[in-house]
Amino acid sequence: MSKCLICENEYLPFVDFGDMPIANAFAIKEEMDDEYTFPMKVGFCDGCNMVQLAEQPDREKMFHENYAFFSSTSNYMVEHFKNFAHSVSDLQSLDSESLVVEIGCNDGIMLQNFLKDKIPCLGVEPSKNVANAAAGKGIEVINQFFDQPLAKKITISHKKADAILSANVMCHIPYMHSIYDGVKTLLKHDGIFVFEDPYLGEIIEKTSFDQIYDEHVFLFSALSVGYLANMHDLELVNVEPQITHGGSMRYTIAHKGAKTVSQDVINLIDKEKSLGLNSANAYSGFADNVNKIRDDLIMLLKKLKSEGKKVVAYGATSKSTTVTNYFGITPDLVECIYDTTPIKQNKLSPGAHIPVLPYEQFRESNPDYVLLFAWNHSAEIMKKEQDFMTNGRHWITYIPKVEVS
Ligand SMILES: [Zn+2]
Repeated sequence: MSKCLICENEYLPFVDFGDMPIANAFAIKEEMDDEYTFPMKVGFCDGCNMVQLAEQPDREKMFHENYAFFSSTSNYMVEHFKNFAHSVSDLQSLDSESLVVEIGCNDGIMLQNFLKDKIPCLGVEPSKNVANAAAGKGIEVINQFFDQPLAKKITISHKKADAILSANVMCHIPYMHSIYDGVKTLLKHDGIFVFEDPYLGEIIEKTSFDQIYDEHVFLFSALSVGYLANMHDLELVNVEPQITHGGSMRYTIAHKGAKTVSQDVINLIDKEKSLGLNSANAYSGFADNVNKIRDDLIMLLKKLKSEGKKVVAYGATSKSTTVTNYFGITPDLVECIYDTTPIKQNKLSPGAHIPVLPYEQFRESNPDYVLLFAWNHSAEIMKKEQDFMTNGRHWITYIPKVEVS
């Protein structure tokens, strides 16, 4: 049995991925002799409806000075965060007297928009290299993990916040209670805490199991976020579905009673209950669905190999680490992965040790089949490569099922 990180109830995991490396631990061959792994299992707690990793990997192995994910490498995400920032500015009527705090500001992709509009903002970011990138844009950054003591310090060094924001960060943090205590401390009476993360409902519906990796401690739903907020005298007041990261949800939290709870919250909670996301039954078929995708994909890759086809992959994503390791995809089946991120290039993928090559070499490699690991950006990518993916070249995708196109 595992113990729930939110309500301390005991629960049994519903899916077991075996030993997994750290999803972003791309490294050269010599550094891979004693690769760190942790047992990756996911469970549902029926006490608070939270879906979570049953065992926590060592955090020092995950967010360090060489953290490989720079948010601003995707133009689509730059635009997404610009819209996110502007919607919060409008909603809270932010101006030069306001304060916006972002938890996990990465390279400043969101806060740069407030800076431009002369709205005071502060980033909190534990990973040094991305924090430096944000500071380089002129954003004030505290290079630390956000928690309740830090929130208290910010109320003294700065003031209470009109808006606390976070994107694809909350689900990374195991110590939620200190975060929510921090939010309670730092938020103005009429302030809002707005965050977005991959949405549990989408993950179950699409079997997008590759959203599960070391960094994603929690898979949130309106049910679980509402429960958690309530434990800290806060309230879930709005929800907005997002198409980013293969299906995310933006949650707005306020002090209890300070804002009206929107009809969208009520509707989403009703929908989650009708899908059974508040009962263990909804999760019982998930592992079987994942294994069906695994069997189909491996069979396809073996068949292509036997036919002498050249198969490469596109996008050395964090998600791909779960896919390659759980499915047993080796360089024997997929020659290499092309990626635009310099810090990953000319390294090996975690666990599976598939070479990662610069994107610039993709077209000259002349592949027959391209396995799309960055499936959440499939529309953008397929459009970009449209002129190349002709003459018998094919994409392979695997969420929600294996398809060749
Ligand atoms: Zn619980």
